[in-house]
Amino acid sequence: MTSQPEINRIGIIGAGLMGVGIAQVAASAGLAVALSDISLERAQAGLGTIRKQLDRQVSKGALSADAADATLARITPVVGLDAFAEADFVIEAATENVPIKLDLLGRLKPVLRADALLASNTSSISITMLAAATDRPDRFIGMHFFNPVPVMKLVELIPGLATSDATLATVRGMAERLGKTVIVAKDSPSFIVNRVLVPMINEAIFALGEGVGSVQDIDNGMKLGASHPMGPLQLADFVGLDTALAIMRVMLEATGDTKYRPAPLLVKYVEAGWYGRKSGRGFYDYSGPEPVPTR
Ligand code: NAD
Repeated sequence: MTSQPEINRIGIIGAGLMGVGIAQVAASAGLAVALSDISLERAQAGLGTIRKQLDRQVSKGALSADAADATLARITPVVGLDAFAEADFVIEAATENVPIKLDLLGRLKPVLRADALLASNTSSISITMLAAATDRPDRFIGMHFFNPVPVMKLVELIPGLATSDATLATVRGMAERLGKTVIVAKDSPSFIVNRVLVPMINEAIFALGEGVGSVQDIDNGMKLGASHPMGPLQLADFVGLDTALAIMRVMLEATGDTKYRPAPLLVKYVEAGWYGRKSGRGFYDYSGPEPVPTR
């Protein structure tokens, strides 16, 4: 059996929202990071985003300029996968799309060292299925970070059917080194957090669509009556209504259980292009200085 590597050099595929956040926390924890995207420009733009985040911390006095420079110096923007030949651990954080992920995992086969570990940050795709597309299902695991990665403390680890205990232990150690708290979820649709959270959001949208309450009443109800820091409709706008709908559809399709059917109003809003904060309108209107409830 190949032994577990000591994790010092990591590769991240995808310099989007999540890949950039993971790169920032990994480099801050002292790891060397190769950050890859479909073009060098995109990977460099990812590094630019991290630079801005660190500069903000420096200007607030939360980080020294030297520490920010040292963190940035540990991140190398790259294109393609060749740079991962040296990596101890690679995290795939590319677009949530099965063909894209399967293609990437296939192309990693001739590149990775035999002892390297591999993870996917997928929110909804079966880890066991992704693992089967690699040459190392025992060394493959789901490693689900939360957005924004530097702020959110949680990492869900999802062993697939073939993931070894040693792989789980090594990746747990790495997540803890990044300052995260680990929970372990079975490889089932949406794992733990989204399994509980997104149907709750969907239910709030059902209630809104049925006229049970206004946006403000539903959100205030859950904030003040259930101690949620943010109401479910505002949270839906943060997550993105298109993402929330996609998660409901994955759960419905995977289980065949109609308790996961998407709320009709959620479907309508996505059809309208009202995706939430990122599109300027969801259950709140974001065009002014403060979000304004729309219903
Ligand atoms: P994103 O769209 O911001 O970024 C994805 C990046 O992947 C893009 O920059 C894209 O150019 C790049 N990419 C696509 N194909 C590639 C390829 N072949 N090689 C290299 N790079 C490629 O998406 P995101 O929100 O960062 O999500 C990434 C992953 O993280 C998804 O699997 C998603 O489900 C998961 N995730 C997202 C969130 C969230 O809140 N956004 C939370 C947890 C997990």
